Amino acid sequence: MSLSVSYLATKNFAVEGTPKGFFCSWCGQHEAEFDFNFSANFMGYTFLKANNQQKGLCRYCYAFLKERAFRSKSWILRDAKVDFVKPKDAYNFLLNPTFEKYWFVYITNKGQKQSWLSSILHLNTSKERFYCAFEPFDYPILFQIDRLKEMNDTAVFLRQCKISKTELKTGLFNPKTWEKAIRDNFEDILKKIKQEYANTPDWEVVVYGVK
Ligand SMILES: [Zn+2]
Repeated sequence: MSLSVSYLATKNFAVEGTPKGFFCSWCGQHEAEFDFNFSANFMGYTFLKANNQQKGLCRYCYAFLKERAFRSKSWILRDAKVDFVKPKDAYNFLLNPTFEKYWFVYITNKGQKQSWLSSILHLNTSKERFYCAFEPFDYPILFQIDRLKEMNDTAVFLRQCKISKTELKTGLFNPKTWEKAIRDNFEDILKKIKQEYANTPDWEVVVYGVK
């Protein structure tokens, strides 16, 4: 199932267009029924498949792409229900996803990109190993729950130690941070970030999501 099919399942109305005789340019799974008429500043063209110059959207993808809130807000989509939430709430959902059949989370940053375009077929059915979309990354980010929880604990601890998010994200800690780490005995944690976490996409989500 695609994100757009699961989204339309949250609606109690049918969207219907005119069958075009070729497949949807976004999901590639259903027949296109709608013209592709998005504004010139739509930033996702490169992620849509070209069907021999024929461009169109199925009813599900049409409904999804028309909903502006999907771009400007963070959201949690699960079991025929969608919630538009604060980024930190979307992030916290990753740590303990509650769902019955399927789910997906989008964490927005500036609300300018549709960073979920390439995730159309990445609806999750597991809470151990799953994808999430995070602006501005153009691809779905894979998470393993054990690694995510470890990263989260690490980031929460270091934020309590007043280490900046820029230092955490890049692993480039300033001399004062190293001094503090040696004095307070968490030097190994900084080394681990530098060697294993820094600049990996899942770590960037964690650093963004923690306080
Ligand atoms: Zn589609």
